[in-house]
Amino acid sequence: MNDNNLNNKLMLSKEDMLQYGYRIIEHIVDHFENQNDKKPVTSASRQEMDALLAEDIPHTPTPANDVLDFVMDHVIPHGNIVSHPKSFSFVPGPSNYVSAMADTLATGFNIFSGGWAASPAAAELEIQTMNWLLEIFGFPKKNGGGIFTSGGSMANLTGLVTARRIKCGDDFSKAVIYLSDQAHSSNIKAIKVIGFKKEQIRIIPTDIEFKLSINKLKNAIAKDRLEGLHPFCMIASAGTTNTGTVDPLDELATICKNEDLWFHIDGAFGGAAILAKDGKKFLKGIEKADSLTVDPHKWFFQPYEMGCLLVKNHSWLSGTFSEKPEYLRDIEGNESEINFYDHGIQLTRRFRALKFYMSLKTFGLDAFKNAVQYNIELAEKTEAILRKSAKWEVISPATLGVINYRYHPINHTLSEEQLDKINQNISKKITASGDALLVTTILQGQVVLRMCLINPRTTLQHIQDTLDQCEAYGAEEMETIQEK
Ligand SMILES: *Cc1c(COP(=O)(O)O)cnc(C)c1O
Repeated sequence: MNDNNLNNKLMLSKEDMLQYGYRIIEHIVDHFENQNDKKPVTSASRQEMDALLAEDIPHTPTPANDVLDFVMDHVIPHGNIVSHPKSFSFVPGPSNYVSAMADTLATGFNIFSGGWAASPAAAELEIQTMNWLLEIFGFPKKNGGGIFTSGGSMANLTGLVTARRIKCGDDFSKAVIYLSDQAHSSNIKAIKVIGFKKEQIRIIPTDIEFKLSINKLKNAIAKDRLEGLHPFCMIASAGTTNTGTVDPLDELATICKNEDLWFHIDGAFGGAAILAKDGKKFLKGIEKADSLTVDPHKWFFQPYEMGCLLVKNHSWLSGTFSEKPEYLRDIEGNESEINFYDHGIQLTRRFRALKFYMSLKTFGLDAFKNAVQYNIELAEKTEAILRKSAKWEVISPATLGVINYRYHPINHTLSEEQLDKINQNISKKITASGDALLVTTILQGQVVLRMCLINPRTTLQHIQDTLDQCEAYGAEEMETIQEK
C-alpha cells in the first residue's frame, strides 16, 4: 500500500481502494447486525484516552490497513452506541443503513451542495425533499421553503437570525424574545450568539404539565410594551426534550398574530411525531409557525448530521442570508435555481438531502409512519407497566415517546432527599454496568429517570429487562438505607 508515487498524491491503488472499502463496509454491516449484543455505554477518562490515542504528528506513512485496524480496535469502541435498543437517554440516534450508505456516496463524490451551478441535482433534491417536509408539516408548498443544517441547534439559530431581521431590521436594542423554562438550551445559545443581552430574554414558567403558561406570557408581553420595549419573537416547543410536552401551539399562534410576534417552533425532537396518528393530534397548530425546526437525525432516523429549518416564505431566508460577493457572481443563476448558500449560514455544504431522499424512497414514508407510531405506543405500554408496579411512580406520562418515572416503593416512607438519592444511584449503577444508557433529569425539583423511546428496534422486552435490573438496584439502595 505504500507505493511512493501514489502516496504523495494521497492516493491508494485501485485494488487497495476496493479492499479497504470492502473492509469498512464489512465493519459497518457487522455493527448494524450485531449492535444489540454489545453494551450501549462506554466511559473513559482523559488520561485513559491520552494513553491510548495521544501521539506525535505522523510524518511518514503507515499501511492503510494498520491504521484501520487501530481505529476499529481503539477508536470506534470508545463511544456510546446511540442506535442501541437500550440507549434510552438524551435523544437516541436510531439511524438507518441506507442513509449511512447515502452519506458515504455523498462524501465519496465530495458533492458541493452550496450552489445550483456546482450541483443542480443536489440543489434540486434539497428542494424536492424540502417540499415533502413542507407537505408533511402543512406548510405552503408554493412560497414555503427551508434549508438542511447540521442539526437542530443550527436550525434554531438560522430561524432566529431570520426572525430578528424581519421583525427588527438593524436595531434590536429594545427587542424582547420569549420562551419557556422547558425550551431547549440551544435556543438560549442561539439568542446569545446573535447578540441579545440577558435582559432581552423572558423565560416564561410552565404549568404542572410543563406547558408554557399562556397567562404568564400575556402578562410578560404587556409589561414589556408598557416599558417601551419591543416584543418580537416567541419560541414554542413541539416536544420538549425533558418530557415530550407540546406547548399550546394554536393559542400561541393567535397571540403571535395579534401581537405581531415571530412564531418559531422548536420541533427538533417531537416534530416527527406528526407522522403518527397518535402524534399528530398533539401537534395541532404546528403549521402556523413562521419558522419550524425539525431534526431528521433524531426521529426521522437519519445518521448525524442533519437538521432542518422550514419557513412559511422562502424569500425570508434569501432576504436574510444573501450576500453578493464578486467571486460568486458567475454562479448566481436565476431565482428558481436556488443557491442554498444564500438561504443559510454555510457556503460549502455537504449533500445532506441525499440520505433523506434515498432512505425515504427505499423504505417509503409508510415505514417511517409505522415506526413513529410504534414508538409512541411503546412509551404508552411502558407507562402501563410502571403504573401497575408497586415499585415505580410515573412522574410525567408517556408523551411523544418520552416517559419520566422514579423508584418509589409503596408502603415506605422516604424523604424527597432519599428518593432523589436512590434514583440517582439507580441511574449510576445501570449506566456503570454498561447494559443500558438511562440517565436522570430533574422535574419539579425531583430526580427522575427519563426514557426517550424513538428507536423502532427497541422492544418491550428490552424495556422490561432494564426495569427489572433497575428494580434490583433499587432494592439494594433500600437495604443500605435500612441498615443506617
Ligand atoms: C436535540 C434538540 C435540539 C438541538 O438539536 P441538535 O441537533 O442537537 O443541534 C434543539 N431543540 C430540541 C427540542 C432538541 O430536542
